[in-house]
Amino acid sequence: MGVSRRLVSTKPDTAIKPEKSQVETNPADATNPPPESVLSLDQIGQVFAKGSDRLVALEHVDLGIRPGEFVSLVGPSGCGKSTLLKIIAGLLQPTVGRVQFEGSAVTEPRDEIGLMFQTPTLFPWRTTIRNITLPLEIRKATEFDWEQRVAEVIDLVQLNGFENHYPRELSGGMQQRVALSRLLVSDPHLMLLDEPFGALDEFTREHLNTELARISDHEGKTTVFVTHNIAEAVFLSDRVVVMGTRPGRILEVVDVPIPRPRLPASRRSPTYNDTINRIRETLDLS
Ligand code: ADP
Ligand code: MG
Repeated sequence: MGVSRRLVSTKPDTAIKPEKSQVETNPADATNPPPESVLSLDQIGQVFAKGSDRLVALEHVDLGIRPGEFVSLVGPSGCGKSTLLKIIAGLLQPTVGRVQFEGSAVTEPRDEIGLMFQTPTLFPWRTTIRNITLPLEIRKATEFDWEQRVAEVIDLVQLNGFENHYPRELSGGMQQRVALSRLLVSDPHLMLLDEPFGALDEFTREHLNTELARISDHEGKTTVFVTHNIAEAVFLSDRVVVMGTRPGRILEVVDVPIPRPRLPASRRSPTYNDTINRIRETLDLS
């Protein structure tokens, strides 16, 4: 914890480049896991069969993610984003291919890999603080000082003053802050987030994105973030993986050379808009 992502991600291909090439991507880098990858997806394929129907949810997904990198998966509904995230989490075994994290194959859920979903799934009878400590209680964590980490996380997500509130006393945005705290408190090495702000109104979403960028810069954790919101992906990410449907696959991997820290003003940079447009073109939305 506390390692700035900026210190660990010396990424030559995402360094600031001349304006013209800023939103260009390098297809070779996109598909070949770079040697320094901490997470690598190797030829992942997923087929769901129902009776005689076969649905190719994912095909030939190859991707390497560096330590501390923030990568988003973006694409239309049904392109396999959640399926891919479940495979990375070890919740689903792919039909073909393999996932490696920190040097070993992911075949089942691991403590170092944390997940967060669109619905906060908080326990209504537990206060904020007791929802946050739940994962530590479940695994009877003894390896670090809970109290200190809980206080640090509450500070980080700005839940001070709400420690003893119940979920029903919190807004949707606050509930997602609790869910994010519950994810951070275990200090996972890899954070997987599946449309965590998808159910929130636009203002709250934008605000939480700014907060997540700050938290992410502070924590420096390797993150895979699923969304169908292109602007959100660009704002948060070092790279955006653009996915398509039928079959679910990677269309392109786009670098986001917007300097960090990412601040609300980053949304006004020309690179931000150029990158959004580039992704829209890839998705045939322009
Ligand atoms: P996304 O998250 O991008 O919207 P999903 O990963 O949820 O897409 O789904 C990709 C495709 O796989 C969809 O067509 C979905 O209906 C199908 N699918 C996902 N999970 C299952 C499952 N357990 N059984 C059958 N089909 C599934
Ligand atoms: Mg999904």
